[in-house]
Amino acid sequence: MNTVIINDFKVDIVCRPRNIKNINIRIHDGKIFLTYPLKCSKNRALAFLDEHTEWLSKNYKPAKISIFEKKEVNIFGEKYLVEVDSMQKEKIILKNGVIVLNQACEDLIFNYFKDEFIETFNKVQKIYQNILKKEVIIKFRMMKTKWGSCNFKKYIITINKKLMYYEKRCLEYVMFHEFTHFIIPNHSKDFYKELSKYYNNHEKIKIELKG
Ligand SMILES: [Zn+2]
Repeated sequence: MNTVIINDFKVDIVCRPRNIKNINIRIHDGKIFLTYPLKCSKNRALAFLDEHTEWLSKNYKPAKISIFEKKEVNIFGEKYLVEVDSMQKEKIILKNGVIVLNQACEDLIFNYFKDEFIETFNKVQKIYQNILKKEVIIKFRMMKTKWGSCNFKKYIITINKKLMYYEKRCLEYVMFHEFTHFIIPNHSKDFYKELSKYYNNHEKIKIELKG
């Protein structure tokens, strides 16, 4: 297997000669997929890859390791070890910084920390209650592409459960962000102006959540 060093990661290159016209580089699952025409040599394709190191170091993302493979997890900024013991009666036990689950299921961890989500929700809802004059319904989901969403017609906010893996201030930011959508549904300048009335640091948190 060919490898290349990108941003200090030793990265595998999967070479795939195909019936195509151009050399193509794709990053997926922490690997590089180098696809090249049948008449092009592998060395030529690798040289092509070499010419694109700048692009690679900008775009490379290592594979996401599941918390169960990693055996440790950060929740609201605190580090925990994760173990799975299928013989355990209780769904989840947290003791001395070790989370023991009876099955490999992230939802069990979320349920354990759900109160902290509700607490943040209540805190933010209180701030907006005079403006909104309506009860907001909160829902939680594991989402792949969004930190939160807001159904401003039905007064429902949906929060990504994965926010538990970030600092508490990120969850706060998303709550403030979604509540602000009840006042301004889009992401216009006015939206961020409105948001900054209640929440300062939003630029910084946005960057933190992207990383
Ligand atoms: Zn938004």
